[in-house]
Amino acid sequence: QEKAYGFMLRVRLPGGRCTPEQYLKIDRLGEELASPSLRLTTRQTFQFHGVAKGDLKKLVQGLHQVWLDSIAACGDVNRNVMAPPNPERSAVHQRVYELAKGFSEFALPKSRAYHEIWLDEELVAGGEPKPESPAAPAPEVEPMYGPTYLPRKFKVGFAVPPSNDVDVFSQDLGFIAVVENGELAGFNVTAGGGMGMSHGNAETYPRLGDLIGFVTPDKVNALGFAAITTQRDYGDRTNRKHARLKYTIADRGIAWFKAEVERRAGFAFEPARPFRFTTISDEYGWHRAADGTWFHLLFILSGRIKDTPGWPMRAALREIAQIHTGDFRLTPSQNLSISGITDEQRPRIEAILQKHGLNETHQVSGLRLNALSCVALPTCGLALAESERALPGLLDKLEIVLDAAGLRRDAISIRMTGCPNGCARPYIGEIAFVGRAPNKYALFLGAKLDGSRLNTLYAPSVSLEEGVEILTPILHRYARERGEGEEFGDFCQRTVLAEKKAETENTANG
Ligand code: SF4
Repeated sequence: QEKAYGFMLRVRLPGGRCTPEQYLKIDRLGEELASPSLRLTTRQTFQFHGVAKGDLKKLVQGLHQVWLDSIAACGDVNRNVMAPPNPERSAVHQRVYELAKGFSEFALPKSRAYHEIWLDEELVAGGEPKPESPAAPAPEVEPMYGPTYLPRKFKVGFAVPPSNDVDVFSQDLGFIAVVENGELAGFNVTAGGGMGMSHGNAETYPRLGDLIGFVTPDKVNALGFAAITTQRDYGDRTNRKHARLKYTIADRGIAWFKAEVERRAGFAFEPARPFRFTTISDEYGWHRAADGTWFHLLFILSGRIKDTPGWPMRAALREIAQIHTGDFRLTPSQNLSISGITDEQRPRIEAILQKHGLNETHQVSGLRLNALSCVALPTCGLALAESERALPGLLDKLEIVLDAAGLRRDAISIRMTGCPNGCARPYIGEIAFVGRAPNKYALFLGAKLDGSRLNTLYAPSVSLEEGVEILTPILHRYARERGEGEEFGDFCQRTVLAEKKAETENTANG
């Protein structure tokens, strides 16, 4: 008898946008075929967990009924393309979303295998085009990926300053919108970001992307093609821990990468143009969009949509989806925006949120509002420690410290993962707990809140209780000694991390 295999299935959802009809379908499919909650990921999509092998086809076919798919949502290909979730903040946001969606389509594998296997098209095997005669060369089935695809996953994100909500520097390829006279002039391009590392292996490390130049919007796809095929041809296929673009760039140099991309694309980058990020945080609550509609950004801890006593999130969203005429946007911080709400509709949606107690975030600490976690145990096979299930308890303890220090309202980012792979982009958290064994975490401090600086290892292996003990005096000291407008990550760099470095150097010098 076959084992009871359980699967995870991830939806491809560029820019994190879906219609109410799609949301309701996802909700229903999840209820019928997967574990009893929905999970929003840090790449703006839905994940179904606990799908029985026999139900996978039903799930894929159900998604197809509302024009959703799971193509290239995992694997050594271009993954879900990220984009700012609230396009109507300006006309530029909408344009950037369209370019991100266009790039997602452009970078899809051209194989029909997904349709053959899951959607009952013909030929499950042998369905790819064949040479017309034995002498003729095989057609290039995958013009971008070739016969062996990429050495490793590839991540692309688009950001619109001043918000770096997509963590653009963590992407293999990042596009930072440059707006001039209210129009999208083009993008500053970053390359070589990536989060994964292995504990105790100095040859693996998180890396922020390098800024390599500026391109106009019409060049996005050509540039992406050139960058992806460069990595396809030069990425390390002998060692998966050294196979991301960040290592190709670190080994060969950013100048080499830029020149190779320019050669393949057939155009040169222009010099990068000025830009400024100020935050990665989501703007919770009600906001008026540029097109006159409203959106409400709902806080969802760890992106877990479920009904719990006093917090019936799933029921509320189901009710809203049944009357909503706009759409839903999943944010890179695992939250959800109910977007495109008209003046007439707003009272109805507000009433549903109020009825379920979901209308206000003012009780929620700034730390909790800026918390991210990966799923880890029990559903991720790579997890070394708890993450999503441990985060609420950790936040409860830290909030007691924050209250005592008068820091409840301060935006401090905290990220937690069950292993160093970095799915919740922990190395860009001002505070990060990265799992290494049951209740043992590497504690990192000092990233910049706008996502432009990595954090630094502060304590290599601590329990959550020890982590709280370590953080308590630092948070109190921050409350007492911070400079005007000084963020927690900057404060940590200036004080405890600098002191620790000096102490280490002193010890080394004898
Ligand atoms: Fe799993 Fe590690 Fe990713 Fe968490 S960071 S979801 S434990 S692979």
